[in-house]
Amino acid sequence: MALMLNGMGVSRGISIGDSFILRRNQHEFVEQKIDKKNLAKEVKRYKSAHSTAKKQLQKIRKEIPKESPDDVSTFIETHLLMLDDAMMATSPIELIKEHQCNAEWALKLQRDAIVNVFERMDDPYIATRQDDVKHVFNHIMDALVSGGKPATVDAATKKWKGRIIIADDLTPADTMVMQHAGVAGFVTETGGPLSHTAILARSLNLPAVVGLHDARQYLKPGESLVVDGESGLVLAEPDETLIEHFHKRQRELRRKAKELRKLNDARSHAKSGEKITLLANIEVEDDLKQLRRVNASGVGLYRTEFLYLQENKIPDEEEHYKTYSKVVRALRGAPLTIRTVDLGADKEIDTVNTGPLAHNPALGLRGIRLCLNDPSIFVPQLRAILRASAKGPVKIMFPMLTTVPELLQAKQLLENTKESMRAKGFKFDEKIQLGGMIEVPAAAISASHFAEHLDFLSIGTNDLIQYTLAIDRIDDQVNYLYDPLNPAVLSLIKMVIDAGKKHKIPITMCGEMAGNPNYTRVLLGLGLRQFSMPPNSILEIKSVLRQTHLPLVRRPALNFLHYTGIEKQTSMLEKINA
Ligand code: PEP
Ligand code: MG
Repeated sequence: MALMLNGMGVSRGISIGDSFILRRNQHEFVEQKIDKKNLAKEVKRYKSAHSTAKKQLQKIRKEIPKESPDDVSTFIETHLLMLDDAMMATSPIELIKEHQCNAEWALKLQRDAIVNVFERMDDPYIATRQDDVKHVFNHIMDALVSGGKPATVDAATKKWKGRIIIADDLTPADTMVMQHAGVAGFVTETGGPLSHTAILARSLNLPAVVGLHDARQYLKPGESLVVDGESGLVLAEPDETLIEHFHKRQRELRRKAKELRKLNDARSHAKSGEKITLLANIEVEDDLKQLRRVNASGVGLYRTEFLYLQENKIPDEEEHYKTYSKVVRALRGAPLTIRTVDLGADKEIDTVNTGPLAHNPALGLRGIRLCLNDPSIFVPQLRAILRASAKGPVKIMFPMLTTVPELLQAKQLLENTKESMRAKGFKFDEKIQLGGMIEVPAAAISASHFAEHLDFLSIGTNDLIQYTLAIDRIDDQVNYLYDPLNPAVLSLIKMVIDAGKKHKIPITMCGEMAGNPNYTRVLLGLGLRQFSMPPNSILEIKSVLRQTHLPLVRRPALNFLHYTGIEKQTSMLEKINA
């Protein structure tokens, strides 16, 4: 009989394939012989990994809050002492030389020998220390494999083609690697619908279920699976009848997509005649192909951090410029809104230090804050965007704005950059439009002040919801609180739309809410006229707005601003969408 599990569906589509269980921090190593002349290099590699592991533990020790019980620091102290002990500091080096082998293999030999000794002891206390020893060895192993950061999934593997990956969690970079490897879909034990991994999965059309706790315990490697990325259902070992049922669903989805494709060239006007602008969010090259297929009016959000994540480093000005020029060319005259880099929180790269507050990164050095803190990251990107603006219509957009002085500082930096480029004879659009993302409640409340200094605003509901409702967008334990229709969220959205009207500047929404057909009429009723979303949502939204009479949704939409309880909210939503 099939095993049925339920998680949260975050990327629509059905995938059918065999499972591949991804276990990280459980390294499998093979022995490699090292030439005598290269042994010193291997020893150096071990020493450097050992020192990275030590630095990491010291950093963790420093970050322990003062009010924590003494046990916590004792625990870390013990690990540090173990790390300094000859069993980890020098014995593996002797093993490298003795066996003329790679550092990983030497460390594995040493770990097995020590764990073996612990296992033979009767004392239950000593037996539990075995776990400590394994953890400390793992720290060094991780550092050896990936320079101290959790390793991303292995791009080289060909085994993933057509498989469904089951993992604890995946980073956006992992997701990109998996897509290139041709996976059929993925299931993670943690994560939420607004994580950048989920957003990327939607944009890559990769069916995905997240927040399926203990998935790796229930699912076996290589067993056949069905994943429904809409309902969150995961079926293991389905019988023929079930498989046929899901193949039928796949066919239905394909039929629906074909039906929607007929709207490719249809005008994007409401039934009552008003023009509504539908823009695309792009992040990876594939999005460009999709964008052309659905005839989007342009790009409302180009998430540039994927340039950084793909290579796990900061691109230089030329790399930025080459990529942006390519996108400008591909858009053939349609406007491109380039968002300056929004690193931090769940979009980290090794070479950028977003500070020690890693336990609360969404509130830390992120987005524009990081760029202002380190102009050496910001300025090359600004220069490249300006240079690309000579080739076609480009707009600049700053992410994560919180205060007006912060905006003015960023504007000043942009002006200085323009000035130095003029002096060197670089061509760029002197009238380049500048916009800001409104995704922090403080900025939404002050939207009118931001509007005075900008050409357009764009509402980032993914973060706006996270910060308004105090729910971490990647924490599955609080997913149940995620509600775009919460009156507080809608009131902030309305404030931004009204600020746009007052200052006569366009307001776009580029968060995931804009691409969800359930909310289209509510947003139209609140006055939104520009939507930016993953390209594969555009036709569905177009279909909704073409059936919407705007004067008729205004009043029902305003009713959502008053708290009415979940049942009333559900019935109001059914009514407005009927
Ligand atoms: C948002 O926060 O809504 C947004 C579009 O930005 P990102 O999802 O990249 O944080
Ligand atoms: Mg955001």
